[in-house]
Amino acid sequence: MTARAVRLRWGGATDVGQLRSANQDSMLLGPDIFVVADGMGGHQGGEVASALAIETVSDRAVGSDVGALVTAVEDANETVFERSTRDPALSGMGTTFVGIAIVEVDGEERLGIVNVGDSRAYQLSSGQLVQITDDHSLVGELVRDGRLSREDARTHPQKNIVTRAVGIDEQVQVDDFVVIPHRGDRYLLCSDGLTDEVEEGDIAVVLRTIDDPDDAAQELVRRANEHGGRDNITIVIVDVVDDGGMSDRAAASAASPVPDAEDFSDSDDDTETFLAVPDDRAHEQRTTARREPLQDDSEPKPQRAFTIRSVAFVVVVLGLLGAGAYLVNDYARNSYHVILDDDEVTIFRGRAGGVLWFDPSLEERTGIDAEDVPGTFRDRLEGGVNQSSLAAAQRFVANLEERIEELTPPVTTTTSTTSSTTAPTTTQPG
Ligand code: MN
Repeated sequence: MTARAVRLRWGGATDVGQLRSANQDSMLLGPDIFVVADGMGGHQGGEVASALAIETVSDRAVGSDVGALVTAVEDANETVFERSTRDPALSGMGTTFVGIAIVEVDGEERLGIVNVGDSRAYQLSSGQLVQITDDHSLVGELVRDGRLSREDARTHPQKNIVTRAVGIDEQVQVDDFVVIPHRGDRYLLCSDGLTDEVEEGDIAVVLRTIDDPDDAAQELVRRANEHGGRDNITIVIVDVVDDGGMSDRAAASAASPVPDAEDFSDSDDDTETFLAVPDDRAHEQRTTARREPLQDDSEPKPQRAFTIRSVAFVVVVLGLLGAGAYLVNDYARNSYHVILDDDEVTIFRGRAGGVLWFDPSLEERTGIDAEDVPGTFRDRLEGGVNQSSLAAAQRFVANLEERIEELTPPVTTTTSTTSSTTAPTTTQPG
């Protein structure tokens, strides 16, 4: 195997907070994978669940693609679930899991991110903080449906109810994301003990201003405690210190971060490149990392407006408009949702309800009849359940099929009497 071109540095901190007696969070700080896990469950359950999940993942070779990363989390789910069924004191324990690792996609190094639960992964790129993961929580779903603001979600009385966790069920649905490692980008993994206490604008300020990842993690813990520290707080920060030249290559495309003032006054050669057709790498980053831009408190960078030649300026503006349109289009096109269509569970490409001009298109009919879908699922499916990838949508359907199977009463009671008399002459029992 060739040497890695992407180099990372990292730091982290975990703290019990001001009110809790035990720290049920766990973290894993590299060198191959970085994880924050927020355990839940009485007695020692939470601690055991988060530690066991991380142990399971770190014990095995994580593998080189994002699918292997997902499998590792599924294995952790199995381990935690199995343990909780064996030990009554640990019954019902579970844990969130958000992880990041270098993976390979078509021979290129990428960052793979996996998530279950309401811990979060953020990307700080060109000073902009963007949440990459979706919260698998009740309030997270309300926010995604537009029924609750991000700000109100932080103080919502039901904010602690997670809708997915590792170890609480035989099966787990894992979200996965792939982002391009760009030199200078910073990734934050954190438990809700940070995000419930510290506003995202303040988190961004700390990440922008404190260079050392350990120091930045400590400062975030300090701020969470200062605001009340009502929960355990865990922070992992991963910096991309070398991307093997990927930034330089991507700089030639419209997908590179919004240029700062210096870029505007650069040579003609540089400004022209904003109109270049984005390459695949750029495409990939937009669909995964450019999700919901947060309200950001960053002051606009001073622009030397009068040094810009007007032609160059127009070229750049047009380029940025094009990139913005491309971004929204990609976001819509590369999402999937599962919905009831003609009383059948169906996978569509695109966001439920569509995004601007991009209407969802039929991807896959599953043959599952709406009538067979359990009530809780059916309610969600009527509005459409958004998924980050086709694989995620298919896993959602597989999970649904299993639920249906579990709920379907065995049909042997009516057929057994006839089959027992006629069976010997026909087939072997399976
Ligand atoms: Mn927590």
